[in-house]
Amino acid sequence: MTCSQSSYNDIFASGLMPYDEALSRVLSGLPGVDGCERLLIEKARGRTLHKSVTSTLNVPSFTNSAVDGYALHSRDIPEQGFKKLAVKNVAFAGQPFDGVVEAGECLRIMTGAPIPEQLDTVIMQEHVEPENGYINIDNRCRAGKNVRKAGEDIRIGDTVLAAGRLLVPPDIGLLAALGISEVEVNRKLTIAVASTGNEVYVPGQSLGAGGLYDSNRYSLMAALARPDVEVVDLGILPDDVDVLLKSFNDAGCHADVIISSGGVSVGEADYTKMALQNSGKVDFWRVAIKPGRPFAFGRIGNAAFFGLPGNPVAVLVTFYFFVLPALEKMLQVTDKPIMPTFKACATEDLRKLPGRTEVQRAIISRNEKGEWQVKTTGKQGSGILSSMSRANAFIILDHDSGSVSTGEQVTVMPFSAIF
Ligand code: AMP
Ligand code: MG
Repeated sequence: MTCSQSSYNDIFASGLMPYDEALSRVLSGLPGVDGCERLLIEKARGRTLHKSVTSTLNVPSFTNSAVDGYALHSRDIPEQGFKKLAVKNVAFAGQPFDGVVEAGECLRIMTGAPIPEQLDTVIMQEHVEPENGYINIDNRCRAGKNVRKAGEDIRIGDTVLAAGRLLVPPDIGLLAALGISEVEVNRKLTIAVASTGNEVYVPGQSLGAGGLYDSNRYSLMAALARPDVEVVDLGILPDDVDVLLKSFNDAGCHADVIISSGGVSVGEADYTKMALQNSGKVDFWRVAIKPGRPFAFGRIGNAAFFGLPGNPVAVLVTFYFFVLPALEKMLQVTDKPIMPTFKACATEDLRKLPGRTEVQRAIISRNEKGEWQVKTTGKQGSGILSSMSRANAFIILDHDSGSVSTGEQVTVMPFSAIF
């Protein structure tokens, strides 16, 4: 999502701020959270590591067998023909054999059992002929095979997870493998969420004339249902400047972030804008992104304030394209699973004007050759939430690009990466 200098100037001339510019203004100067907490590792998934973790163990901590078989001296492997070795004893995982295995002998060994120091090779049981306390081996057995060396996975002193890592399930397992039961993670963000508008009703209530149900607060709270966020529900705020100001100011005393939707456009009833435009701390932008043009960002008290548009699809698009990167910056996430984008073949024409980023809701699938293809979910109005519910991906059309013809490649971002 880049744009050339010439179109940049054109766009500013038209009063719209390119998406890249708006995002970098949002991200610059956003503070990182200042506290941390100690958590049991079983509670740490989805949290961001505060301090790097260094290993105080070798993993594995002892040299052990990778298979069920026989441990032996590699010098006993015959150059040709067969060699008979006496089976001295047996070692199990958690039940080591402490004795000595002499030349010409071997040790029956199970997966995970420690390999005595003098031995350096394990032969799989499927590759030998056992016979009355002996085995016959041939030269297919290679020196050093099937041995898991102490420290081959992790060595004492290795940095295994760096500060800023958003912890995923294998990280939690890795911490456990190192014998670590607790970690320090960055504290949660407290995020206050509000809907605005006299026409907006809580689901379950009966609708008044001209009313509609609040979907925005529910989409947002669902998108924020993650281990590193505490949501404060501010409910539906009426179109009343004083009530809005009071609610936002109260939230600004205890929340890190306030997210509201609606009332940020240029109409006569855009009360969020009326309430905040003279605060000197909130900017109202018209961003060159579709959907999502009106957008407010700034500070209220201690909190970062995001004033999202009212239309339900625009709310989700601006959440994923502005708010989410901002939250990750505040949470100091520097290493997380990637959100991949890739190219897919458009199976229909897509109309688009250069000069704004467009985020269309789409369905990706594979054609009979296994190649990715994409079609939109139909009508793309910013109020048509079913267009997003039916989608499994965004099509992202860059600021400078124009219309797309059937058969051209477009950039897609699968939802599996963001939900
Ligand atoms: P506004 O920017 O406040 O004029 O809102 C733009 C459009 O989004 C209007 O049609 C609103 O009715 C609609 N809208 C605003 N808030 C919500 C909400 N919480 N849930 C669903 N639709 C909303
Ligand atoms: Mg409104």
